[in-house]
Amino acid sequence: MSSLGLSSTSESARGVILVVEDEKAIADLLRLYLSREGFGVHVAVDGVEALHAARTLHPAAIVLDVGLPLIDGTEVCRQLRGEGNWTPVLFCTARDDEVDRILGLELGADDYITKPFSPRELVARVKSVVRRSVLAAQSDAPLVMGQVRVDLATRRVDVAGAPVALTATEFDLLAHLLSQPSRVLSREQLLSEVWGYAAVVGTRTVDVHIAQLRAKLGEHSPIRTVRGVGYSAEPDARE
Ligand code: CA
Repeated sequence: MSSLGLSSTSESARGVILVVEDEKAIADLLRLYLSREGFGVHVAVDGVEALHAARTLHPAAIVLDVGLPLIDGTEVCRQLRGEGNWTPVLFCTARDDEVDRILGLELGADDYITKPFSPRELVARVKSVVRRSVLAAQSDAPLVMGQVRVDLATRRVDVAGAPVALTATEFDLLAHLLSQPSRVLSREQLLSEVWGYAAVVGTRTVDVHIAQLRAKLGEHSPIRTVRGVGYSAEPDARE
């Protein structure tokens, strides 16, 4: 069993990416590609190491394999979210049908990629989740619609005065809709503008995140479904 002390962590201005992967060849490849892009990389090879590294290194994002020794990737994500740790998580799954199962668990993951993936594609996804959380942290005018208030600087969301915890993706999706009141955005547009890449993961990802967002915002949700088109944020939305 390896320990954290055996894995080197390179520091970087772009932040550290925590790569959780028990297949050494894949981990080495990701370390190479992410380092080239200026990220520091820390590799954890099982779920216990992953939790420890996520809690202590404050990574910019976590690339999380689902099938892991000791604690599997879904449970790692569940535990972090349970602790209020909302570091962006990009899941790697071995099978396409596993994506449905993971989405169904509502773990608060930000993106998914299916093995085998191209390292370039994975790096593009990592940059996308990191860019989204950095951009959101830099803006500062709060967005308000009805009872929903989104503070872009602190990434805090209040509904009727009470704080609501959102994943990084749910937050970005809500902020994106609220920043363009009443504009109807298609699922493809949202994938491109919020997730930052073309609709390779399928538009179902958008629907799942919208459903989770609505569940958290409750009766004050400003999100309206425009049948056959997409979604918009409206002051008096009725789904
Ligand atoms: Ca694995």
